[in-house]
Amino acid sequence: MAMQRKQVLILGGNFAGLGAAQKIRDYAGKDVDITLIDRKAYLDYIPNIPLEMFEGRDPASTMHMDLIGPLAHEQVAFRQAEVLGIDVPGRRVRVRPSERPGAVEYWVGYDWLVIALGARLAYDEIEGFAAHGHSVSDAFLANRLMDYLKHDYKGGPIAVGSARFEQGSKGRPAWLKTALAACEGPPVEVSLALAHWLQTNGKGGPRNITLFTPAPMIAEDAGEKVVGQLLEAASKMGFGYVNNTQGIRRLTAEGVEFADGRKLAAELAIVFPNWRPHEFLRGLPIADEVGFIVTDTLMRNPEHPEILACGDAAALTVPKLGAIGHQQTDIVGRQIARDLGRMSPAKADTPLKPVVVCIGDMGGGKAFYIHADAWYGGPMQELRMGRLPYLQKVAYKEMFFKSGGRVPGWALPAAEWMSEKWAG
Ligand SMILES: Cc1cc2nc3c(=O)[nH]c(=O)nc-3n(C[C@H](O)[C@H](O)[C@H](O)COP(=O)(O)OP(=O)(O)OC[C@H]3O[C@@H](n4cnc5c(N)ncnc54)[C@H](O)[C@@H]3O)c2cc1C
Repeated sequence: MAMQRKQVLILGGNFAGLGAAQKIRDYAGKDVDITLIDRKAYLDYIPNIPLEMFEGRDPASTMHMDLIGPLAHEQVAFRQAEVLGIDVPGRRVRVRPSERPGAVEYWVGYDWLVIALGARLAYDEIEGFAAHGHSVSDAFLANRLMDYLKHDYKGGPIAVGSARFEQGSKGRPAWLKTALAACEGPPVEVSLALAHWLQTNGKGGPRNITLFTPAPMIAEDAGEKVVGQLLEAASKMGFGYVNNTQGIRRLTAEGVEFADGRKLAAELAIVFPNWRPHEFLRGLPIADEVGFIVTDTLMRNPEHPEILACGDAAALTVPKLGAIGHQQTDIVGRQIARDLGRMSPAKADTPLKPVVVCIGDMGGGKAFYIHADAWYGGPMQELRMGRLPYLQKVAYKEMFFKSGGRVPGWALPAAEWMSEKWAG
């Protein structure tokens, strides 16, 4: 009688979930059945949403990549369903199919569970956001902001910044610092690109915009040297800057009120919220006190090694960057191959050494490129600005879509090479 293959269940199908499925297939071969569950059947290419919006395209039509085709190519089964809960001792997940309303709930079992569910972007916890806030983290918000800028913006002050991030501490290694903001590349990027858009459209420029951060220094995970250079350039251009706000108390018609009592006048407030873990994860034995999944540097939960996590859902992913999730998916694939006896421990046990990689649009066909591990105690702090990083950002997205997310390890140098060819 044929033995039933072991079951890998992946929850979430954006950058981390799709990447994990591909890496597991690469390293574990055909020895496992892989099933991926997501509530939607497309990948949302979030990092380029602001660029698309400022260049006049609708991110809903340009940033959604079909998920089912690339998964089928890897012989990974896709199930469209809402994940409702995890029964850790019972090794099963509670789901409700989400293709049509009215579905009932089912349990799905697993031998390994990979949690790649990202986080909730908690705009609903910011008082006044619905009436007075804007953002760019999905196509709906980006299109709403562009409509406002085109039709309603009167040329007044603009505030751009982050709410306070709540990071857990359970199981946190000593090298992982406390971050007061979840991901501050986007506010820097949006400020620069927006300033260019305002100038091009005769509605203002850098002097209209003030960047704010809950932390002592914006984007501190990029390293002091990099941020120092960025801030110097921004201040020469005329941007305002407010730090140490401790968070957002509320948004009003007058602007932003900060947790430390200060106020910033704003006709337009573009904010990034707390990255809050999904409610059903909090309280599970595999989660920290806020709900992020606790793992060691091999991305496995120490008490339940059959449960792995990658991407924004993992407690070790700080800042919440797709690039760090990408590094983790490789480790997840190796660990499952090791359990199957398809990879030696020496080859599989390569612990996470996070590196911050962020390419942010600056408008006008230019971008900044940050490559740093200083925040984790490493020596790297690289900042480049100009046309090449912009071409790299666009080329990387093209490669991602054309290869169904299978951007090889040499993606960044290759994107650079392509950019040089195009630029030349
Ligand atoms: C504006 C902006 C710009 C950014 N720019 C960059 C950048 O330049 N570089 C970079 O590295 N990172 C960037 N990031 C961060 C990056 O987008 C995230 O780190 C990345 O998307 C995380 O990937 P993930 O797969 O872990 O989670 P997500 O992308 O959040 O995906 C989670 C998936 O799980 C699914 N899901 C969630 N809950 C459920 C449920 N209950 N049931 C079923 N399915 C569920 C979702 O549908 C989704 O597909 C940016 C973020 C923003 C907001």
